[in-house]
Amino acid sequence: VSIPAAELEKLEVLGRGNGGTVYKVQHKRTSNIYALKVIHGVGDQSIYKQFLRERDILRKTDSPYIVRCFETYEKPSGEVALLLEYMDGGTLDTFLRNHGWFSEPEVSHITRQVLEGLVYLHSNKIMHRDIKPSNLLVMNKNMEVKIADFGVSKVTILPLDPRNSYVGTCAYMSPERFDPDSNGGNYDGFLGDIWSLGVTVMELYMGHFPLLPPDQDPSWVTLMCAICFGDPPTLPPGASDEFQHFLDCCLQKEPSKRWSASQLLGHPFLLKYQGIHIR
Ligand code: ATP
Ligand code: MG
Repeated sequence: VSIPAAELEKLEVLGRGNGGTVYKVQHKRTSNIYALKVIHGVGDQSIYKQFLRERDILRKTDSPYIVRCFETYEKPSGEVALLLEYMDGGTLDTFLRNHGWFSEPEVSHITRQVLEGLVYLHSNKIMHRDIKPSNLLVMNKNMEVKIADFGVSKVTILPLDPRNSYVGTCAYMSPERFDPDSNGGNYDGFLGDIWSLGVTVMELYMGHFPLLPPDQDPSWVTLMCAICFGDPPTLPPGASDEFQHFLDCCLQKEPSKRWSASQLLGHPFLLKYQGIHIR
């Protein structure tokens, strides 16, 4: 079934990102609710390329752990948009800010779903490259979590005078992505997603970005030093050994030492809490 753009009514703005604006929309004929991601600036070739990448990935993915795309629109005027499954709980980032932190069973429940999504993507040779709380969307009912936002292209050149938004984007990047030489032959982007997952999962538990002291507004250099030269982060006392071990498997500086997504799915930290009811 196709859904013409003319049959959509904009209800409110759900969020704004670097790439565009996301609206809550209603399909007038069926009353169904969707999220419409309108991408700005596609006159710029690199932004248009990112749109095409996201569109092509969303068209071929079919998983309960990846946000679904029902339609894509390209107007002659140059405006492009994606019609997405509406996720009523917003992002894990806002969820975290309203909720403070998540308990270990909750973190385990969320992590398992993100890993199911990553196993699906990686087995289809797709790397996400921007796993972070603000790109994970929540369906409120049973704390269902799905991976969203495939718009990011490979960061190869580091700007000398980065803006804050750029710092935010780098915060979840693996150490090897800061190394310009690693972009050649043996750079494995799939294992970069695993690092980002580790940082994300740790943030969900601790309630703040785990590689720096809370409330610090870091410069790009501070951030890069923390990621590339800092000690491996450890959880506060009270966290289980299984949880710490899980993070150790994700947050290895040397990519080849990290576990793959499918290996991690069988980790005791996830098995331990399987079947436990969350909220
Ligand atoms: P950024 O570059 O900052 O990550 P972006 O422009 O690539 O952002 P998205 O991350 O896809 O865009 O979406 C921006 C915001 O819109 C999200 O943070 C979220 O608040 C909201 N949003 C996106 N998709 C959905 C959806 N399917 N359902 C509900 N809200 C959504
Ligand atoms: Mg985003």
